[in-house]
Amino acid sequence: MIKRREALRVVGAVSVGALPGWLRAASDAPDCDVDVLVVGGGTAGTIASIQAARAGAKTMVVEMGSQLGGTTTVGGVALPGLFHAWERQVIAGIGWELVARAVELDSGKMPDFSTPPQRHSQHQVPVNGQLYAALAEEACLGAGVVLCYYEMPLSVRASGDGWEIETAGKGVRRKIRCRQLIDCTGGADIVGMLGMPRLREAETQPGTLMFSFSGYDASKLNADEIEERYQHARVDGSLKDGDYCAADSPFINFLRGGGSNAQHVFGADSSTSATKTQANIAGRASVLRLLRFIRSLPGCAGARIARMQQETAVRETYRIAGEVQVTQEDYVSGRVFEDAVGHSFYPIDLHDRSGVKPQPLQRGIVPTIPLRALVPKGSRNLLVAGRSISSDRLANSALRVQASCMAMGQAAGATAALAARKGATPLDVPIGEIRALLRKHGAIVPG
Ligand SMILES: Cc1cc2nc3c(=O)[nH]c(=O)nc-3n(C[C@H](O)[C@H](O)[C@H](O)COP(=O)(O)OP(=O)(O)OC[C@H]3O[C@@H](n4cnc5c(N)ncnc54)[C@H](O)[C@@H]3O)c2cc1C
Repeated sequence: MIKRREALRVVGAVSVGALPGWLRAASDAPDCDVDVLVVGGGTAGTIASIQAARAGAKTMVVEMGSQLGGTTTVGGVALPGLFHAWERQVIAGIGWELVARAVELDSGKMPDFSTPPQRHSQHQVPVNGQLYAALAEEACLGAGVVLCYYEMPLSVRASGDGWEIETAGKGVRRKIRCRQLIDCTGGADIVGMLGMPRLREAETQPGTLMFSFSGYDASKLNADEIEERYQHARVDGSLKDGDYCAADSPFINFLRGGGSNAQHVFGADSSTSATKTQANIAGRASVLRLLRFIRSLPGCAGARIARMQQETAVRETYRIAGEVQVTQEDYVSGRVFEDAVGHSFYPIDLHDRSGVKPQPLQRGIVPTIPLRALVPKGSRNLLVAGRSISSDRLANSALRVQASCMAMGQAAGATAALAARKGATPLDVPIGEIRALLRKHGAIVPG
């Protein structure tokens, strides 16, 4: 436990911005007490922590990487969507605030949401991922969130009215006590550490290393010749399955798009350091194969990597078994759950070995996110937000997208803050109070 005097002494010795004393001290203090601990500062965790802190909870984030944003930033999938459905906004709040700020500060342009898109992706909002990470960090610090990068939990145990989490990082090993714990690891790591049930498919969706190539003029290339060379490369093994994931589409289309989000890494799994290492190695090996192949094509000798992320982005690992499971039927029928705390909007979007064929929702349908799907079955003082929401596989293929994860994060942060204040477990917090807090912080809540 950090005593106030000790906190001020530590604060006096370092300069880490304009934070209240106890917060600055806690970032490298041996042991500490907080109201809300968020594990995983990714797409959902960033928003959960800002919301909890803005609602007055002492909030800390333990993130094993170097920055906020997770798949949105480190994974390079800087295409948050979908905030709009059927010509109206259905997800707003803190995620939207950060996205809008990132667009503005990058002199970007919002899509035109007033007309139906030909493809759903036209209503995603392209952002500068690294700018988004910086803005997310600024918003966290502004709200008083303690950020602990390069740190991860070693053990979790129930303790009194909350939790005791032992963490380790470079030069730090400590116990963090919290009243409410939010698992935003993208793979329900905390739920797994607690030995609670998690769901996983025998074969999960492939991941993708985000990159793009430049250095050639696709309009001057001979598409037929390129296709012949591509088919040959697949047979002789210089290119492998997944290097270009749109199997039915000619390779010239890969070149026209620079290869962005056009590769699949089969078996990519972020569950452990070992599987993450394998996913990154496989992703980079694929990029090298593609680069060497493209440079061998007529007219492409100057091809180069214009952009390449440092990690393979992973689509699917574990989902929780929650108090309620969102099914595909719930999703495509737009079921309004009685404890809905936000919306989700996306086609059913399952990637497999043959690529992806999104199934759009019928006009007017806007699915909802029930609070109980963020609560592991039988748990107390524990919430999960992000792609590991309790859902069947097909519902999950839509729920996992970034605007939905941000809405879940905000709902989890608001619920955890209220639960911590009341000394209650999340499902004992009146749903009306959660919704009122969410609305106060700009979220759109069904009903
Ligand atoms: C290739 C690809 C393309 C996609 N395309 C789109 C798209 O176009 N638009 C869209 O909206 N969505 C898209 N998605 C989906 C979406 O990006 C993700 O599902 C979503 O970002 C997941 O958010 P999350 O918060 O659950 O996890 P993440 O954003 O992955 O965050 C998890 C965080 O937890 C941290 N972490 C993990 N384990 C631990 C641990 N044990 N201790 C501490 N920290 C930990 C990680 O470092 C990470 O920061 C795509 C996904 C992929 C992979």
